[in-house]
Parts: sequence; structure tokens; C-alpha cells
Amino acid sequence: MSAPRTTVTTQVGIVGGGPAGLMLSHLLAKAGIDNIVVEKRDHETIRTTHRAGILEHGSVKLLNDSGVNGRVLSEGHRHDGIDLRFGGRSHRIDFQDLVGESVWLYPQNEVFVDLAAARERDSGDVRYSVRDTEVLDVTTATPKIRFTEADGTEVEIRCRILVGADGSQSICRRAIPADVRSDHFIEYPFAWFGILTEAPPSAPELIYARSEHGFALISQRSETVQRMYFQCDPAEDASAWTEERIWDELQRRVEGPDGLELKRGRIFEQMVLPFRSYVCEPLRHGNLFLAGDAGHTVPPTGAKGLNLALADVGLLFHALDSFFSAGSSTLLDAYSETALRRVWKAQNFSYWMTSMLHTRSDATPFERKRSLGELAAVTGSRYGQQYLAEGYTGWPDN
Ligand SMILES: Cc1cc2nc3c(=O)[nH]c(=O)nc-3n(C[C@H](O)[C@H](O)[C@H](O)COP(=O)(O)OP(=O)(O)OC[C@H]3O[C@@H](n4cnc5c(N)ncnc54)[C@H](O)[C@@H]3O)c2cc1C
Repeated sequence: MSAPRTTVTTQVGIVGGGPAGLMLSHLLAKAGIDNIVVEKRDHETIRTTHRAGILEHGSVKLLNDSGVNGRVLSEGHRHDGIDLRFGGRSHRIDFQDLVGESVWLYPQNEVFVDLAAARERDSGDVRYSVRDTEVLDVTTATPKIRFTEADGTEVEIRCRILVGADGSQSICRRAIPADVRSDHFIEYPFAWFGILTEAPPSAPELIYARSEHGFALISQRSETVQRMYFQCDPAEDASAWTEERIWDELQRRVEGPDGLELKRGRIFEQMVLPFRSYVCEPLRHGNLFLAGDAGHTVPPTGAKGLNLALADVGLLFHALDSFFSAGSSTLLDAYSETALRRVWKAQNFSYWMTSMLHTRSDATPFERKRSLGELAAVTGSRYGQQYLAEGYTGWPDN
């Protein structure tokens, strides 16, 4: 006979210990609201998975002001602009001059390390390496999360509010019946070939390059590790590329009369990242709320995914605080609509950056020239530059 299921009770049950789930857990705990996070991966796997790297000023403020720790400011790198490169020439978008804001280069794994350490420091209840997670009764006053602990113990969490922060393959989202949920989805006809390399930075700021051979992003991670991407076919086999071929491909996409030369180094990760845009509407069903990639995903061109996840959490935290401390449902009732306003702005920004900078393989000469006209219009006008700078550094409100 199997052992009986262990039952625990809390105010907020959170599925997913990525940036959204851990940040929410941290904010709730600070406000005295009990919560438990269940996460299917182990700490080491999450810590060593490389994903996003650019934080908007609002994300940095959330991490810093909520007392996670000060590492984002002491170890992150402030970037006051980016280069848009086309026709072989770079055009700087000066964020500080245009909108008085900056972004921070601070890898997502460091955000995870900081949040996980803060939860441990504050005796938070985060259960890693769980399996067979299920969510039940989400429209009742006692939603439940069932799962199996790493040691085989079967557990049921009974909570007042259940938050799905379980990423793009969300099981929580599937608890919203198909007839009350709209899935808005598009796929793009290209992907990014991404590498991590042991090399010094090739430029002081990020370079977003459009060339006749396709798009490339020359990004960074640290003084010694760099992240770079180039546009490729979604069916591309990353393992079939030699280091030399990858470097040659990247180089020819940034070539220009200024002689920009990429600094090469050993490549220690190469992968193909598919491009999708997705939004689930609404982000709430009964007492289940979705946050982050569980509710929406964007192509990475606008560096919005992680930032949107943290923006959702900021909103959801205030709504939950108002619900538990003042008994008011007003902000919870408005959560989905308010969060989705920012989500759709970010969808538009990511789509716009993607279509302006990439070249479809079937693009006509007219379409190629039109995109160059768009880039010239944006970089040649202060208004155009400001539109980009505000979207990239993050809109002040939803
Ligand atoms: C390769 C890559 C590169 C990216 N680059 C960028 C970028 O440059 N800029 C940017 O802004 N964004 C980027 N993103 C997107 C960004 O990483 C995400 O938007 C961000 O991680 C969202 O955070 P989240 O907490 O919502 O979801 P996640 O980080 O996906 O966290 C969800 C967590 O839930 C856990 N989970 C899932 N299912 C279950 C379950 N059934 N039970 C328990 N736990 C579960 C997962 O293990 C995971 O840890 C990138 C994504 C990828 C994959």
C-alpha cells in the first residue's frame, strides 16, 4: 500500500521556481504572506541554464528595492545605449540622452542565484526537483497543487490563491478550459543560432546588425564570456557547424567599412532558438493566476521575456497584498487586463524589432529595401530613436 499523501496549507501556492515564481515568493514573504514554491528542476540545472541577459531599469529596481541583494548593481553592467548596424555602419541609440534611462546586462542565471539565495536566507519554502505536478479545483476557494517530492513523498498543497509561473510549457495554463481561453500564437520563418564563447567583448555595447546575409546580435555576458546570435533556418542542426564556420558567418554579418572585427574565442555552447509569439487571454481563471512565460512568450529580439515576467509579478504582488492585508479583490480582478496591456505593447515591440532587423528568405528586393528605409527613418530621427529607446529600456507604466 502506498504512503498517505502529506497535506500542507498556505496562502499562495506557486508552480515554477524561475524568475517569476521566486520573485513573487520573495515579495509575498516580505509582506508576511505565506507561500510555497514547487519547482521540477534542481537548483544546479537552473543555475547553469543560460537564457536572458538584459534587465530593464524597472526590473533592476524591483530586484534592488525589494532587498534581494545588491549584486545586480554591483556586478551588473549598465548599458546606456545599443548600436543598430545596417549597410555596414553602426548607428548608436543613446538611451540616456533620449529617455534618461538605461538597461543592465545581468544574466538570468545570476537573477536566479540571487532570488534562490534570498529565499533560503529568509527561510522560504521552495521545493526543487518535484515531479508529477498537478493543479486542481482552481475555481474553488481552496485550489490545490499535488506533486511528488524528490524523496518520493506525495504532497498536496491547499492554498487560497494558486499562481502558475511554470514557463512556456505551463501545466497551469491547461487548467483554464479551452472554451474560456484564447491562445494567440504566431511562429516566425526563422530562428536564432546562439553561441556562448570564451572571448573578450567585441564592442562596448550590444550590436543589432541587419545585413544582406541576415541578422546578427553581438551581445555580452561578462568580461570573459560573450553571447552572440545569428538568424538561421528553424530546422538548422546546430551541432553540424564547426567553430570556424560559425565565426565566419557572424563576421560577414557585421562586415563594414569601419573594419569591425569580432574577437573570437572557444565556443562552449551552440544551440538553435525557435521564434514564437504567444499570449494567453485571460491570465486568470477563478483563483488561478498566470505570470511570466506561462501566460506569454516573445521572440528574444526586444529582450522582453524576463522583464515581462518580472513586471507581471510586480503587479500580481500588489494585487495579492491588497487581497490578503485589506480583503480587497479590486486589483486581483484587474490583474489580467492590466498585465495584458504591457504584454501586448511588448509583443508589438518584439515583433517590430524582429521584422525590421531580420530578412525572410523569400523577401523580394522591394521588401529588403523597404526595411533599410525603416531603419534609416528610425535612426535618422530623434522621435524614431526615442520610440525604440523607450520600448527597449521599458515603459514607465502599463
Ligand atoms: C535560450 C533562451 C534565450 C532567451 N533569451 C532571452 C533574452 O535574451 N531576453 C529575454 O528577455 N528573454 C529571453 N528568454 C526568455 C526568458 O528566459 C523567459 O522569458 C523567462 O525565463 C521567463 O521567466 P519565467 O519565470 O516566467 O519562466 P521560466 O524561467 O521558464 O521558469 C519556469 C519554471 O517553472 C518550472 N516548471 C515548469 N513546469 C513545471 C511543473 N509542472 N512543475 C514544477 N515546476 C515546473 C521550470 O522548470 C522553470 O524553472 C530566453 C529564453 C530562452 C529559452
